[in-house]
Amino acid sequence: MNETKRNWKPATALVHGGTARSAFGETSEALYLTQGFVYETAEAAEARFKGEEPGFIYSRYANPTVDMFEKRMCLLEGAEDARATASGMAAVSAALLCSVRAGDHVIAARALFGSCRWVIETLMPRYGIETTLVDGTKMAEWEAALRPNTKLFFLESPTNPTLEVIDIAAVAAIANGIGARLVVDNVFATPLQQKPLELGAHVVVYSATKHIDGQGRCLGGVVLSDKKWIDENLHDYFRHTGPSLSPFNAWTLLKGLETLPLRVRQQTESAARLAGHLACHSGIAKVIYPGRNDHPQADIIARQMKGGSTLICFEVKGGKQGAFRMQNALETIRISNNLGDAKSLITHPATTTHKNLTDETRAQLGINPGTVRLSVGLEDADDLIEDIDRALDQAA
Ligand SMILES: *Cc1c(COP(=O)(O)O)cnc(C)c1O
Repeated sequence: MNETKRNWKPATALVHGGTARSAFGETSEALYLTQGFVYETAEAAEARFKGEEPGFIYSRYANPTVDMFEKRMCLLEGAEDARATASGMAAVSAALLCSVRAGDHVIAARALFGSCRWVIETLMPRYGIETTLVDGTKMAEWEAALRPNTKLFFLESPTNPTLEVIDIAAVAAIANGIGARLVVDNVFATPLQQKPLELGAHVVVYSATKHIDGQGRCLGGVVLSDKKWIDENLHDYFRHTGPSLSPFNAWTLLKGLETLPLRVRQQTESAARLAGHLACHSGIAKVIYPGRNDHPQADIIARQMKGGSTLICFEVKGGKQGAFRMQNALETIRISNNLGDAKSLITHPATTTHKNLTDETRAQLGINPGTVRLSVGLEDADDLIEDIDRALDQAA
């Protein structure tokens, strides 16, 4: 049976939640590497297909190991139901596409993860879904974009890479006011630091590839919402388009969830220390860190986030050349576009993750030639500070 207590605190739920022990009574979650399931009788198969008897049918629909991951994520998020996906983008695209059709209108904040922006800007219009991108921090822009056929809102906060923060409750109020649904990509905040459903959002999506795995091993994603929305929108879409998570990856992610609070707490603590250090460094033009008083949306962060971020965005003096020289001089921090990992990773968005945007769009988003994004890992913060200081000295 599933081990689930609604009143568990997050750390406990992340160790025990959703566990379905087999007859062997194993301590660690069982890994059910199976495509399908057998039935004792033809009648049992019939009953299961009719939905009259509980049980698994086929791993594209559901699988016991994946089910444990989904149940544990529901406990963490405070959501009624979830579907785990093969990647974060599978989660985002399923969440966005399953509930809209040709003729509907979608409004999204323009500061988005590159692939999310492609789905909104390029893919959806191909199927006759109208889309508008707005400056997500300006409520008047969301209001002005409303149309009679607006069905869905989408945003990410803090945003990638500039860690801009959007007032989720305010956007949710606009969406709910016209009966539209707000989908929030909560990757940068992690499920521990921000609760979009409590703030009025209707659907939350994650790339589990990031903090949830947190150790660079496998891709994964998850969509969470109330049971009604999932039944009416995602259920059939998910079964028939097949973005399902592999049981092996679900098992890995279950292990990731056990240590998520410890890792996020430590990484946030180190990031806050690094951000404070960088803000005083003469080689740095600007530091953006949710958790610092000089963050442009510090008041919203205080209201909607329970803690800072594991990520820091900063601008190295000397533009692209300065940023490249600094990155190349790093010895402990590695150059990579990934984030949320145990290893500290640095990326230069203008030439990697955000290279497909025009110069004008990049400037609009605050992505300058010297901008770098640092994902702080689990190394000792002293070693990271020493690494950055030495690299900045060499770059100057
Ligand atoms: C990484 C990421 C995604 C995509 O996740 P994948 O697991 O790489 O498919 C979506 N949104 C945000 C904010 C991300 O950081």
